[in-house]
Amino acid sequence: MSTRSRQILENLAQVRERIQNAAVNSGRSAAEITLVVVTKTYPISDIEILYEAGERQFGENRDQEGSVKSPAMPKDVHWHFQGQIQSNKIRSIVSWARTIHSLDNVLHARKISQATPEGQTRQLFIQANLELTGAESEVAAHRGGIAPSSIIDFASSLTEFKNLELLGVMAVAPLGVNPSPFFEQVFSLSRQLQAQFPRAKYLSSGMSGDFEAAIATGATHIRLGSSILGARTPVI
Ligand SMILES: *Cc1c(COP(=O)(O)O)cnc(C)c1O
Repeated sequence: MSTRSRQILENLAQVRERIQNAAVNSGRSAAEITLVVVTKTYPISDIEILYEAGERQFGENRDQEGSVKSPAMPKDVHWHFQGQIQSNKIRSIVSWARTIHSLDNVLHARKISQATPEGQTRQLFIQANLELTGAESEVAAHRGGIAPSSIIDFASSLTEFKNLELLGVMAVAPLGVNPSPFFEQVFSLSRQLQAQFPRAKYLSSGMSGDFEAAIATGATHIRLGSSILGARTPVI
């Protein structure tokens, strides 16, 4: 076994154990939690190692990467997209990603719907931006996401797209703060959405630095990169 394989499998085993413990500690079952391994910047050879170890859900942030990696992997991989959506990339993103976590624009939803092949569906999370309040901060607005007060209206505007399935809310905790109060707010938002849209019962929150706190507050999808694959070389 290569050093790289050993390293990835060791990290994966630790992460699986941490998910299991976090679930049990909050009276949940680990089976309720979908691990999406965020493979951005990492090579196909790493994804193959994870596939061999049984992982089937992978996430990418850029169409340029996802559109190259996805055809190299077996068809039973479920690809996720959690990056910023660029309008001119939607057709391509939809060609490989089944679940998009970062929707915050109705025009994008329309394009996703139009690009989805006949007889298929795509799954969506609405990205929430909890830093957006009544007096919306310019800085926060640039990071994308829908203000909590607009989530229900936004979700209502998606119901016309019959081939799009709304899964729930997605959020990214701000760096350098205690994530637990943040995740509590996200959970409450998720419950509000679910009250109106019963099928939108999933919650995509939690990354390498905070997934245990996310699991304690209802996350059903956690998006983990560096805890499994190691620190990324910064891009951009
Ligand atoms: C990169 C990324 C992740 C994974 O981050 P890690 O800290 O490496 O686990 C999860 N979600 C989003 C939206 C990301 O951009």
